[in-house]
Amino acid sequence: MGRSSKDKRDIYYRLAKEEGWRARSAFKLLQIDEEFNLFKGVRRAVDLCAAPGSWSQVLSRKLRGTEEKGEDVKIVAVDLQAMAPLPGVTQIQGDITKITTAQEIIKHFEGQPADLVVCDGAPDVTGLHDVDEYIQAQLLLAALNITTHVLKPGGTFVAKIFRGKDVTLLYSQLKVFFTTVTCAKPRSSRNSSIEAFAVCENYSPPEGYVPNMSNPLLDHKYDEDFNQLEGPNRLIVPFLACGDLSAYDADRNYPLQLDPSKEYQYRPPTQPPIRPPYQEACYLRKNNLLAKKNFSTVPLDKAFPDLHR
Ligand code: SAM
Repeated sequence: MGRSSKDKRDIYYRLAKEEGWRARSAFKLLQIDEEFNLFKGVRRAVDLCAAPGSWSQVLSRKLRGTEEKGEDVKIVAVDLQAMAPLPGVTQIQGDITKITTAQEIIKHFEGQPADLVVCDGAPDVTGLHDVDEYIQAQLLLAALNITTHVLKPGGTFVAKIFRGKDVTLLYSQLKVFFTTVTCAKPRSSRNSSIEAFAVCENYSPPEGYVPNMSNPLLDHKYDEDFNQLEGPNRLIVPFLACGDLSAYDADRNYPLQLDPSKEYQYRPPTQPPIRPPYQEACYLRKNNLLAKKNFSTVPLDKAFPDLHR
């Protein structure tokens, strides 16, 4: 597939490159903000599962604005993968389901809780819907656990969810901590995707709740707990499509030349991923080294020191 045909397929992918965003996801956060006014009065924010960093870019641009104004702004971004630096963003490379990563994040906010926590975390999708939904839910609960440590009362938490058959349990869990939970579907998120975003407003944990990293928020017997919610225990949260209706439709194809007066120009990605997990596989494949016996006994870091530096 040529570069231009890939460009043509996805309007938000193209717009992201034109506007200098590291990923098309930037538009999802911007469109959620249009609806919920997320950034009003926010000075401290956490971006969980942040790489390659387009949500952090949005936070940096929206909260810091000009350099002078941005001095008291604190943004902490966390991801398993390395991320190129961004102005005013402190980066932590780690797994959000690990206590050590959570502790490192909490350290940055001691005494000064965050106003906003966002999480666009997604596992590597397996294609097995139940498994993908389960892992996504676990990631969200890990993010919620960290959030209970760092978010100020009244603060906002936004997290990606998969609207699968068991999503109501997640809503119920979120409702324990937030007075308002809304399911938002930005226009830049494809209709064909079960992805949506839980926008949780007004953090108000139950009285006497003490955040605890060993809290078994993650320990639900999925099948038993999730499917037995009935009647008033099934929580239906409002669903809100967001983003201006005149915005581009993520499921449509658009011509390459959007503006008839300007000739289409290919733009490379703003920030290609740093050492992505597929890099090693591509290298092996390109060099015809996949499944060669003599390599199976050599540790990969010894066989390809360049890739492991
Ligand atoms: N919001 C990002 C942006 O705008 O650039 C895109 C996030 S991408 C859809 C999902 C990210 O979740 C990936 O970078 C992945 O490494 C990260 N992720 C998945 N599981 C994680 C975990 N357990 N801990 C930290 N990051 C994780």
